[in-house]
Amino acid sequence: MATLKEQLWDPIAGFGVTFRTMFKKPVTVQYPFEKRPTAPRFHGRHQLNRWPDGLEKCIGCELCAWACPADAILVEGASNTEDERFSPGERYGRVYQINYLRCILCGLCIEACPTRALTMTNEYELADASRESLIYEKSDLLAPLLPGMEAPPHEMRLGDTERDYYRGDAAARAVAHGSAAAGGEQ
Ligand code: SF4
Ligand code: SF4
Repeated sequence: MATLKEQLWDPIAGFGVTFRTMFKKPVTVQYPFEKRPTAPRFHGRHQLNRWPDGLEKCIGCELCAWACPADAILVEGASNTEDERFSPGERYGRVYQINYLRCILCGLCIEACPTRALTMTNEYELADASRESLIYEKSDLLAPLLPGMEAPPHEMRLGDTERDYYRGDAAARAVAHGSAAAGGEQ
């Protein structure tokens, strides 16, 4: 049982904590009116990257879909032709969907991607009111065209084979020709 001294002192000590806290800087962020930048490596919305000439890096291999523990990715590959080329190699991702109702933003898919076609941005505002709007299509995920890029389909501008692209020669040529070298990757 508390002594008389403790009964008197405990409320004073409690109010002391309240009083000290009143003068500390608040940590509450008034989201969505105030937005703070995320950590640089924050896992947000995905992005499908491009080569510096605008061709897509995705080869439709489906490794990202197989790696996904939430079954959130759907990929359907197709073959490039001489008349309609979307990526430097033989295949490209014709259909690409990520279901953000399922995705847990774990990043296993981007680790599995052999071409660095798939990366994650810092964008975290993915909530919406309808189920359909949270299934992102390829057009929603593709990186924007930067200066020097051309929307596919088109020929390989930075080499004769896909090896030129994968060995880094394509990026070097893009720099030499003054195009964007980062390939839109974040
Ligand atoms: S981040 Fe994780 S859950 Fe989301 S699509 Fe990639 S592997 Fe699947
Ligand atoms: S994003 Fe990467 S892993 Fe997924 S299908 Fe395209 S190339 Fe393959």
